Order: sequence, then structure tokens, then C-alpha cells
Amino acid sequence: MTFWRVDNPTHVVVPFIEGDGTGPDIWRATRPVLEAAVQRAYSGLKQIEWLEVLAGGKAYSQTGQWLPEQTIHALRHYSLALKGPLTTPVGKGIRSLNVQLRQVLDLYVCLRPVRYFDGVPSPMRHPELVDMVVFRENTEDVYSGIEWPAESAEARELTEWIEKKTGKKLTPGSGIGIKPISRPGTHRLVRRAIEYALRRNKPSVTLVHKGNIMKFTEGAFRNWGYELAQEEFPDETITEAELQKQPGEESPLGKVIIKDRIADMMFQQVLLRPAEYSVIATGNLNGDYLSDALAAQVGGLGMAPGANMGDDCAVFEATHGSAPQYAGLDMVNPGSLILSGALLLEHLGWQEAADLIYGAIQRTISEGLVTYDLARQMADAHEVSCSQFGRSLIERMG
Ligand code: NAD
Repeated sequence: MTFWRVDNPTHVVVPFIEGDGTGPDIWRATRPVLEAAVQRAYSGLKQIEWLEVLAGGKAYSQTGQWLPEQTIHALRHYSLALKGPLTTPVGKGIRSLNVQLRQVLDLYVCLRPVRYFDGVPSPMRHPELVDMVVFRENTEDVYSGIEWPAESAEARELTEWIEKKTGKKLTPGSGIGIKPISRPGTHRLVRRAIEYALRRNKPSVTLVHKGNIMKFTEGAFRNWGYELAQEEFPDETITEAELQKQPGEESPLGKVIIKDRIADMMFQQVLLRPAEYSVIATGNLNGDYLSDALAAQVGGLGMAPGANMGDDCAVFEATHGSAPQYAGLDMVNPGSLILSGALLLEHLGWQEAADLIYGAIQRTISEGLVTYDLARQMADAHEVSCSQFGRSLIERMG
């Protein structure tokens, strides 16, 4: 199985995790949309067979486990899945199931496309200029889960060790977390980002980092990113610095421009000069912040799809959480899961079916048919429920 699976199967088994909270609401709206798109695109010649696998609250109540081994096994076996949001119980000693899934299956890329659908309320003056794809590293950085609470023996021991080795004094009683960022971890992420840019004819890959402050982690990410581009894609890429030495050459034919930006400045750039950015490759924490901020520029989390991908498995998921206060009300926006499903169809090579969904979303929103989250920001919207939004898409499909 390759990372970029586009094998165009006629029949595919897709394991799905319904998710907690509003997960069942958005799943009920999403499934018929995906089935209708595949049916209309291929007139019955291609089919999805859904296979429910358990995780989260439903898994715990049925099996006593939050993330059963059978679920991991099924995801490995079928090498893909569509996943609703999972609640992380706070302060009960249970690690985020989402993080566990990413680590167990080594889903090292979190891919978040951010595009604008005309008519969606946005705080931007020109949201149509926002067309970016974030490649967020998913397994390293301060998210690796290596940390000790203040006053623990380990934190005290480390504090003493740091003082002895560096002469730097930490404030007594500090909690300590470790931030590992490696060359192989950076290389494999940046490799995928450049491959993506080449496959999709994207103009640039921007390495986003905070290397001015954290030189051996964030700064190294930047350096290793350039290094990878130079070593593996010397003929297909050119650095922004090299390009600037060639006056008049704005966009060299067929070459992807590799550039880098400091993370805090990048938050300004995507607001002020969004057209200058296309594919973004960044670390775990920067990517987490940046992809949510970008989602807000084009309509919020209700419309933000995502995928967590590794060499052997890809899990497509709604990027928002389980919004438990809306559970069962048939109210929230299923757009994120539907768009994640469309990404899954693209992953299979079923582009025609995915395009039917994109077109239907555009038509439905243009008619002002939206769920509460968008309706409350629009002057002439007609608010529909979660399931009605799904039905409206099917009615407007091709
Ligand atoms: P959340 O994303 O669930 O909700 C925050 C707010 O966003 C909601 O109050 C709601 O106003 C809005 N929202 C979320 N989904 C929406 C949708 N589909 N349509 C319209 N509006 C929507 O974030 P939270 O409240 O911080 O987290 C709730 C739970 O979800 C926590 O247990 C958290 O750990 C978990 N979580 C899971 C994932 C995941 O499964 N990938 C991601 C984030 C949070």
C-alpha cells in the first residue's frame, strides 16, 4: 500500500468510527451523501461497503475498552477509515484516543486542506484567496507525551541535571515537557508535502517554524526541510532565495518554490497575503494552531476536513471535537465529515465522486441552505438541520 493510494477500486471496504457526542448526528448525514456521490458518478459500477469499528464511548460501553485491539487491526487491515470525533475524558488518566490512533498506526501526516466555498461567512475581505493545504507533523514535538508534573521526582531530577549540565536554573517546582524533533521525522513529512505540491501543481511549499528561538528543534526542522528538498527533489524544486537571485523569474516552469517563515509571522501572512501561500509543512504544535486559525478564515471548524496519514493507513476525520452539548439535536454542521469523506474518495482515485460533493456543497451554500453555525453569521440564510443539509446536498448533486 502506498501513501498516495489512487488505485481506483471497484469495491472498497471502509471501516468507520461513528464517534462520540455529535458523531452519530454527522455520520447519519454523511453516509448517504457519500453513497449518492459514488452511485451518481459510477452508476453502480463502484461501491463502498461500510464496516463499523468501535472507539470511544460506544467501544467502552460494549467492550470495556476505549480503543479495542480489533479496531486497530481493522484499520491496519483495510488501510483506511472514516472517523467521527472522539471525546477525551478530562483528568481521568485516559490519553487522547486521537493521539493514540496516530501513534499506534504511525499516521505521521495530518493533512488539512483549507479552501473557501463562495457564500460562507468569513472574517476575511477576500476569503477566496485562501487556498492552502497544511501538512502537520503528527508524531513528534511537544505532543509526544513525554512530560512530568511539577514536584515529581522525575521533574526534580531533570531540573538538577539541567542545572549541572547548563548552569541554567529552572524555577523550582516547574513541570517539564520534552520537545523531540528529528531529521527522519522532518524528512518524511516534508517529502510528502513536496510530493503533494508536485502531484497537484501547487506553486510552493512553505516550511513554518520557530527556529529563531528554538534552534535545535524548530530551526533544525527548517534546515532539514531544505536539505530534503535539495537531496530528493533537486530538479523539481527551487528555494525562494535562489529564485530571488534570478531577476524576472517569478515562477520557474514546473518548479515548486521552497520557502520558510517564522510561525508567528505566518499567522499575519495568512491573513494579509493569503494568495502567497499554498502548501504548508510544519511541526505538530504550530500545525495544530495554524490549521484551526486557517479554518476560521473560511467558515470555521464545521467546514474543515482532515486526514491523518501514514505509509500503511489513512484515517479521514472531522477536525472538530465531539461538541457534546449538541449531541442528538440533529443540529451541527456535518460539512467537516462530508468533506473528509470527499478526501477519502479522492484518496481512492474516485475524483468524479468527490467533485460531485464539492459542487453540491457550493450550490447548497449559494442557496443559503446552511446549519446554525453558518446561518447565525449570514443575513439571508435558511437554517437547516444537520440531516437536512445532507439531503440538500444529495438533491443538488450533479
Ligand atoms: P469541539 O470542537 O467539540 O466544540 C467546540 C465548539 O465548536 C462547539 O461548542 C461548537 O460551537 C463548535 N462546533 C464543533 N463542531 C461543530 C460542528 N460540526 N458544527 C458546528 N459547530 C461545531 O471542541 P471541545 O468542546 O473543545 O471538545 C469536545 C471534546 O471533543 C473533547 O473531549 C475533546 O477532547 C474532543 N476533541 C476531539 C477531536 C477529534 O476527535 N479529532 C478534536 C478536538 C476535540
